[in-house]
Parts: sequence; structure tokens; C-alpha cells
Amino acid sequence: MCDGTIGWQASSQRGQPIDLSSKSAVVAALVALAWMGLVQPSGAAAEPFRWLMIDGAMVRWTIEAPTSRRQLSYAFLAGAQEFPDAVNCGSMRAPDQIAAQHRVGPAGLRRAARQAFDRWQAVIPVDFVEIDDAGAADIVLGAQAVPTGHAFTNLTLARGTVDGLRAITHAAICLNPERSWKIGFDGDLRSYDLVHTLSHEIGHVLGLDHPGARGHLMSFRYDEARDGLSDGDVLGARTIYGFPGHTESRPLDSIEQQRAPHSPDAVHGVGFQSGPRAR
Ligand SMILES: [Zn+2]
Repeated sequence: MCDGTIGWQASSQRGQPIDLSSKSAVVAALVALAWMGLVQPSGAAAEPFRWLMIDGAMVRWTIEAPTSRRQLSYAFLAGAQEFPDAVNCGSMRAPDQIAAQHRVGPAGLRRAARQAFDRWQAVIPVDFVEIDDAGAADIVLGAQAVPTGHAFTNLTLARGTVDGLRAITHAAICLNPERSWKIGFDGDLRSYDLVHTLSHEIGHVLGLDHPGARGHLMSFRYDEARDGLSDGDVLGARTIYGFPGHTESRPLDSIEQQRAPHSPDAVHGVGFQSGPRAR
């Protein structure tokens, strides 16, 4: 990838102000993170994690019962699907081309996703369960119908903010089928490891942003220096969802979240839209 980042090329809407001209009932809050990030101070030290924020609110999946683990389902697309209101991943299809690559294979793609979800599942009280029906899944994975960048995440958010939180109601992860994909690290940074990339995108699905360029799974640059979650990645997820076995997250006001500087090439691949998800 030309800019060396892990694939969060800007969508065409990135950086645009909120669009209030939509004729639909859906509030077209097509706000992208880089726009939010412009308020970041420059020169600050890299910090361990960073939350996704929109309009000053954290975004997260809700946890209904404080004593139980949250279950989120995911599915691979079996065919084409359109998400007309999505900022990213608006047009997706089955990831056949990615699976067909050398060293991946259909089973390898599934295993890569499982491994990526397991990384997060091990550290927070959220269980990820694969299902067959992408239409019923909380998280949809597939290939981009219009290839761009490497990988993107799109989050659909509930309308309104409750106690400074904005609920995530649906997520999509789309991979560029024309890129070179692999499983495992081999030092060739032209080809991205699917486990690493999907783990990063799942971090966005959970409500984490990029803490900086390097040093963490959630850092925006793809490299093969770290395999798996950093302490900062784990801490970030736990401040949102709590620890495994007890879901009470740390009081938000007890977390002094440092703000990472956004370097000019800190392009994001997370898009938001409000309202019901498109079908
Ligand atoms: Zn990212």
C-alpha cells in the first residue's frame, strides 16, 4: 500500500462536515474521525489507546446485563450486499477472491477471522460467534466491491447519546480483494497479514481509534513488529467493556485519556452513519 498505513484510506466522505441535507429520515451524520482528530495537539507523546469519539461521545456496543458477557455475531457475506448509507463498505461482496489467494484459502480466511476475534474475546467480556446468515449478524465481513485502500470498518450508530455513549448497532469490515493478503508475518510489508488486519479492524468495531503510528495493534501503520494486542490495546478495550467475567468498565471519568497527535497521513478507515442499518 502506497502510504504504508494499514489500510484506512479515507473514504470520499472523510473529513466532511455533517451533512444535514439528507432527505431521508436518517440523520446523515457522515462524520469521519480525522475531522474529529483535528483538535489534537501536536507533539504529544504517543499514548496507549484512544477511543473512537463522535460528537464528543464514545461509541460502544451496549451490554444489557451487567453480569453477563455480551455476545456479538459475525458472518461472512455469501453474496453481494449494498449498504447505501454507509460511509465505508457501502458495496460489498463475498470474499472469494481473497480466500483464493495463495497461502490463504477459504478455511484459512475463516481461521484468520476466528483468531482475530479470539484475541479480543480473551481480554473483554464479549463473545464473538460466527453465524451463517450475514443478514442477521452484528458484524459483516466481506470484500469491497469497489476496491480501495486495504481495509475499512463501518459502524452504524444508534440515534442519540445516552450518558455520553453512542451505541453501535451494526458493523461491517471490508477488505480490498485486489490487495495481496497472507496469514502470518514474513517481513514482506507489501502483503498484509489477515489476522493482524482483521484484529485491527475489530478494534475499531469495538470502539477503539488509532493511538498513533506504531507500537500497538491499533496503531495506524501496518508493520510486523508486534503480533497481537499490546497492553495499551487491552487497556483501551477494557476501559470500554470491562474485564472478562465482570462487565463493569472502569468509570469513564477515571480514565485520563491522553490525546494522540494525528500526523498528516493518519488516514482513517472507520466511517459512521446514524440510524437503522441498510439492508
Ligand atoms: Zn484503523
